[in-house]
Amino acid sequence: MHELVIVSGIVEAVSDLARREGKRILTFTVAVGELASFDKNLIEELLNEVKKGSLIEDAEARIEIERAEVLCKSCEAIWGFSDLIEPLGENEREMIHFLPELVSSFSKCPKCGSRDLEIRSGRGIRVSYVEFEE
Ligand SMILES: [Zn+2]
Repeated sequence: MHELVIVSGIVEAVSDLARREGKRILTFTVAVGELASFDKNLIEELLNEVKKGSLIEDAEARIEIERAEVLCKSCEAIWGFSDLIEPLGENEREMIHFLPELVSSFSKCPKCGSRDLEIRSGRGIRVSYVEFEE
């Protein structure tokens, strides 16, 4: 299972951090990209399962959704992915859902009209916050 590999990597990375800092970790937050094809509930479930018996067993795992942003490479404006695709038709939105890169085929920069758009964030999964014990 893809998610299990990802979650194991996260637990390992956060445990490493605790080891390096020599401190206990109270909470950590995992940011799941809006466009990442991960099941948020499954990630949360697996995190709680995988961290059992690890150095961060007692740390509270939180999940947040990271908003996807699109950069216009022409004028350097940054737009919310969902705002850009909102005015599109249902079919176009459906296609973009499966292949987010298509955003530059169907959308234009609202400011300068360029189609030179690049997805900047919201595609991956990462640890966004770690709280250590004082
Ligand atoms: Zn632009």
